[in-house]
Amino acid sequence: MSVTVQQLSEHFSSLTGRKPDGVWSAPGRVNLIGEHTDYNEGFVLPFAIDRRTRAAVGLRSDGIIRVTSTFDDTPVEIPLSDLDAARAAGKITGWSAYPLGVAWALGQHGADLTTVAGVDIIIDSTVPVGAGLSSSAAIESSVALALNDLWSLGFSREKLAKVGQMAENDVVGAPTGIMDQSASLLGAPDSAVFLDCRSLDATVVPLRLTNAELSILVMDTRVSHSHATGGYSERRASCEAGASAMGTSSLRDVSVADLDRAREILDDVTFRRVRHVVTENQRVLDTVRALNDQGPLAIGALLDASHVSMRDDFEISIPELDLAVETAREHGAIGARMTGGGFGGAAIALVPHARVSEVEGAVKEAFAARGFTEPVTFTVTPSQGAERNTAATPEA
Ligand code: ADP
Ligand code: MG
Repeated sequence: MSVTVQQLSEHFSSLTGRKPDGVWSAPGRVNLIGEHTDYNEGFVLPFAIDRRTRAAVGLRSDGIIRVTSTFDDTPVEIPLSDLDAARAAGKITGWSAYPLGVAWALGQHGADLTTVAGVDIIIDSTVPVGAGLSSSAAIESSVALALNDLWSLGFSREKLAKVGQMAENDVVGAPTGIMDQSASLLGAPDSAVFLDCRSLDATVVPLRLTNAELSILVMDTRVSHSHATGGYSERRASCEAGASAMGTSSLRDVSVADLDRAREILDDVTFRRVRHVVTENQRVLDTVRALNDQGPLAIGALLDASHVSMRDDFEISIPELDLAVETAREHGAIGARMTGGGFGGAAIALVPHARVSEVEGAVKEAFAARGFTEPVTFTVTPSQGAERNTAATPEA
């Protein structure tokens, strides 16, 4: 379901009998470049997209948090002061673990859940679930910003990103990094968020796609990456083994100049895993520099090189992703790469506005010719991060 701010407010009123105190929203995200670098304390460059989760929130006087989603209208409620015990007992499950997890994690960061007001939260989203666009971070960030405002906590956005990550790690139980929440909270229109996963310093980098008349096309292969858990932990283990053989705690400390030595001391597979991470970190830095100095037309080759590195060195691509990337390049994309953890999911291409439909058609045709499931393609626009909306804010 996709509703306007006004309709969501009305929906809130029909469920609670009163008006919400406000509507907050937060976007999903796409990672432009920097893959499998986060857990190596490296660099990533995601951006917030024009698909958002909205949360209509109203205070209640009884200390209860009650959450409802338009995709499952059954409310879940619990006293805020019981959240910690419920979490410890593993009783917070299903989709409500995201908003309830955020309330719990705010408590862990210093909010006093025994004294703050209760809340009704009603969520609606245009971020597709499980398409690699982080619908989960969009929920976490919208709820975190809403409660931060309504409970007058004064937490920074960086702190709210940690709150979202903690909810996802310790309540939902997904061992994710902080990239998604950072993009969702810190994103800005026509910009990306450059994040140093070691220091957690984040900087907004102008993309200037509008001026260059470029679009970012997402090509979702619809191949689920759910079977990838083994591949993911294997890659993490290789990175740890490589770092320790190189005498460091993290591949962040290994530079491109160290790769000759790495080749001498590592076995071939570990070396290639290490080379991906080390060169990918460098590509993120080069992308940021190119964007600042020259603009987005200069980053095509870096996106292409990132894909080749994931395909050949990190070995996390699949034929569908390779085909999407190659076809997009043949039909006018200035650069393309798979995005996300790999083994499925989506690729992105940087495409001149005028050639977007040609690329979409060509990719679909190429998939049909190979007998692959029809991909879903759509453009995303780098957009504003989490914000408090007014009734006049148009639907994203
Ligand atoms: P994604 O890549 O989209 O973040 P995740 O598995 O991390 O995939 O998060 C998806 C989960 O987030 C869903 O299974 C659901 O529990 C929750 N979720 C996402 N959007 C909504 C929504 N609009 N309402 C309720 N829960 C949602
Ligand atoms: Mg997620």
